[in-house]
Amino acid sequence: MSTSLEIVRIPVLSDNYVWLMREPQSGAVGVVDPAVAGPVLAEAEKRRWKITHILNTHHHGDHVGGNMEIKQATGCTIVGPRRDRARIPGIEVEVDDGDRYRFGEAEVFFIPGHTSGHIAYAFREQRALFCGDTIFALGCGKMFEGTPQQFWTSLSRLRALPDDMRVYCAHEYTQSNARFAVTVETDNQQLMARRASVDTARARGEATVPSLLGEEKQTNPFLRADLPGVQKAVGMVGKDPALVFAEVRHRKDVFR
Ligand SMILES: [Zn+2]
Repeated sequence: MSTSLEIVRIPVLSDNYVWLMREPQSGAVGVVDPAVAGPVLAEAEKRRWKITHILNTHHHGDHVGGNMEIKQATGCTIVGPRRDRARIPGIEVEVDDGDRYRFGEAEVFFIPGHTSGHIAYAFREQRALFCGDTIFALGCGKMFEGTPQQFWTSLSRLRALPDDMRVYCAHEYTQSNARFAVTVETDNQQLMARRASVDTARARGEATVPSLLGEEKQTNPFLRADLPGVQKAVGMVGKDPALVFAEVRHRKDVFR
C-alpha cells in the first residue's frame, strides 16, 4: 500500500526546527526531535492531530528536551537510537542501522560523527530524510563525538540516497553555511546561485529547510570532499576524502 506523509515545520528556540508529521492512512502522528513541548503540542492540537510517536535522532538537549512532557500529555511512544539509549529521555523503542520502523516505513541509518549514537530516519517512498544535525542545508553538524572517517562515511551513505529526497535537518543555519561554502568552492556557479536565493529567502523571513538532497550533492562542500574542486580548494588533491572532510570541517569551525 502506498502511503504519504504530511509534514509541518515548527520553528522553536532561536534556530531549531521540530518536524511534525502525519501519515493520513494510519492516522499516526510523529514528532522528530522535539526541542521543547509547548509549541509542538499547540500545533498538534490546532490540527486535531494526536501525537503517537516521537522519533529522536540524537541525545542533544535541543532535540530531546520536549520528550517527557509530550509523552505525559499524549502517551506517545518514544523511538530513538539504541546505541544512545542511556541519553534519550523516556526511550521505549530502540532502533539501529538497517531497522525498519513501522511509522511510514522509516528506514534507520546509523550515522555517527556529530554524536556517537546519531541516527537518521529515511522515508524512501515519501522522499523524506530526517537527519538531525548530520547534514544541514549547505553544511553539516559539528564533530563533537566522532572521527573524520566516521563522519565522512555517514555523509557518504546519506549522499547515496536519491536526489529528490528532501532533507529535513534540525536547524536554520543555511545563510551562515552559505557564507562559508562560497569561500571553499569559489568557482561553483550552482553554489553561487544558491547562496543568492538563500539570501533572498532569509531577507523575506522564509525558511530554507527542507532542501533537496540533489542540490546538497551539487553545492554542500561537506558532501563533496572526494571531488577535485573541494580537494583543490584546500590543497589536498588526491588525499583521503575523510581527511579532506576533516580539513573543511576545521576551516568551518574557525570561520568568522
Ligand atoms: Zn546536536
